[in-house]
Amino acid sequence: MSLDPALLSALSKLAATERLLVALDFDGTIAPPADDPDDARSLPTARAAALELVSEPGVTVALVSGRAIDSLLRVTNAPPEVILSGSHGAEYVVNGELTRPALSSEEHASLVDLVMILERVSSEVPGSWVETKSFGYALHTRLSLPDDAIAANERALRETAVISGLTVREGKNVLEFSVTAAKKADAIRHLRELAGATGVFFAGDDVTDEDGFAALAETDVGVKVGEPPTRAGHTIASLEAMPALLSALVDFRRRG
Ligand SMILES: [Mg+2]
Repeated sequence: MSLDPALLSALSKLAATERLLVALDFDGTIAPPADDPDDARSLPTARAAALELVSEPGVTVALVSGRAIDSLLRVTNAPPEVILSGSHGAEYVVNGELTRPALSSEEHASLVDLVMILERVSSEVPGSWVETKSFGYALHTRLSLPDDAIAANERALRETAVISGLTVREGKNVLEFSVTAAKKADAIRHLRELAGATGVFFAGDDVTDEDGFAALAETDVGVKVGEPPTRAGHTIASLEAMPALLSALVDFRRRG
């Protein structure tokens, strides 16, 4: 698959940086969408290229996902050298060690109210389901009829509005309600610091990834999988191009 010359040129410049952070969203970026989130797996070629990057000196690879960290651990089966950031940057696994903020009793109470509302909405909307996350719940409507999905989302938003301190994140066929306000921008900043990175590559496909792109510097490279508009400097039409892109980064790094 041929890559855009402007993107290749940006990758070649970035690859020359002293310490490189490669941060990748998982679903829709290196893993094709799956009806059951537990069935999602990265493209084998993308995984292989990412693992080659892991073994390059001065390169840190991180997976940055909205998934709860347990779910991310399960579907990625990543080696401990890969940093995992789950729940949009609220929780991390670094060298096999989990860090996650503790919830207050108010937050626990909010979660009880939240799940009752979402379960009620979901029970009346065919094809929808509620996913338990580390700091909240997500209403999935991927298998619902479009009109049902819109109605379910509207109802969920209206009924949960009484719960204070909730952050709502919209994704493709999913509405997530959480008691943490972490954004992928926080994840990128934290990972940049952890890795001592002098340059960052970040790729993502969804609305929440736009926060990550916003945290990139001019010398970093952001790639959106999908159509503009985006805050990323580059786009690729499909995640099928991601393995070639990661391989190009490996080649540039080795040549440098
Ligand atoms: Mg995604």
